[in-house]
Amino acid sequence: MANVSLNAVRKNYDETLHKDTLRNINLDIKEGEFIVFVGPSGCGKSTLLRMIAGLEDITSGELKIGDSYMNDVPPVERNVGMVFQSYALYPHMDLRENMSFGLKLKKMDAATIKKRVDNASDILGLDPLLERKPKELSGGQRQRVAIGRCIVQQPNVFLFDEPLSNLDAALRVKMRIEIAKLHKELQSTIIYVTHDQVEAMTLADKIVVLSPLDEGADSNLEQFGSPLDLYHNPDNKFVAGFIGSPKMNFVDATLVEINAKDCVVELITGERVTAAVDANRAKVGDAVQLGIRPEHLVESEHEHAQSKVTGIVQVTEHLGSESFVYMDVKGCDFTFKARPEFPAEAGDQLTVGIPTNACYLFDENELAFQRTAKYNRGA
Ligand code: ADP
Ligand code: MG
Repeated sequence: MANVSLNAVRKNYDETLHKDTLRNINLDIKEGEFIVFVGPSGCGKSTLLRMIAGLEDITSGELKIGDSYMNDVPPVERNVGMVFQSYALYPHMDLRENMSFGLKLKKMDAATIKKRVDNASDILGLDPLLERKPKELSGGQRQRVAIGRCIVQQPNVFLFDEPLSNLDAALRVKMRIEIAKLHKELQSTIIYVTHDQVEAMTLADKIVVLSPLDEGADSNLEQFGSPLDLYHNPDNKFVAGFIGSPKMNFVDATLVEINAKDCVVELITGERVTAAVDANRAKVGDAVQLGIRPEHLVESEHEHAQSKVTGIVQVTEHLGSESFVYMDVKGCDFTFKARPEFPAEAGDQLTVGIPTNACYLFDENELAFQRTAKYNRGA
């Protein structure tokens, strides 16, 4: 097990194009932490993981694993184990042979190999399957073998690149829970890449949110923090929009009143909303954006409906356990996560409440103002 630290790491695949893929990535990953890299497709998650593994050069900056400088150390000497999305197992070998193969290459003695494979297969529940060939396994079982092949190496750091994205939805949930259990059992440092923010929220001790690098931006590391920290206190609009499902609602607005612990904004749709944020670094008249999560909107008679907006219902989805109401508020899209069987039909006029404590607010540069409250609508 080991710490991993990245200092001002940059990646440029082709210096002649002057276009970086990753810039100014600073991370301090502690021994035993489960870290998830999340971000839209193409933002550089795999690149960053592959640089840690040693499969990709680091253009500039510094990578340390434990206390050792790793930039120029070949992959096999880094003692990291990697599991990919496609779990290329050897088709002609049974599971035991698949898991033993890497250790045999390292000329490890047979008794140690057996012990390690038995231990991994015990952890992963593969014991009854050890004599089978990969083609006799389900997708989830094959992915477990790929993880087992990694565990037997006893790496200092586990690197997972979207390991569940080839599995169907039900199996993904099951494997997600197994990976969480595995981390508890092994207590090892895990760095895990996904574009699925639910996987990120449920697995991570800390999440790294990456965005596609804007030319001219100082960095494309948007935020590094615990899942709930990102949910309640996103640093900027990108993180606010990426974490949470369905996505946060955003409305353009203007600051009309600034107090010590809250402020009032006038939405582009005309309504005034009181938001529990400290906007003292801005001034009245500044353009801002209000953010409100679908699960924080309330019915208009709710005790927390301190501000209200009215719109026209476009579509209602009844999912049994909850309903999603998609509304048009004078040209702005609003999603309202409502109670089961909430009565709202396309064309209805609907007023929803915006609790003061549930508001997020972003400045012209899409940076968040500090929130002064946290909100939970309750059941
Ligand atoms: P992600 O894993 O977040 O989807 P990647 O790290 O695979 O993103 O890719 C990030 C960017 O780097 C993409 O624009 C991709 O086209 C580019 N890229 C990835 N690998 C290479 C490569 N070997 N050569 C040149 N460009 C690459
Ligand atoms: Mg990738």
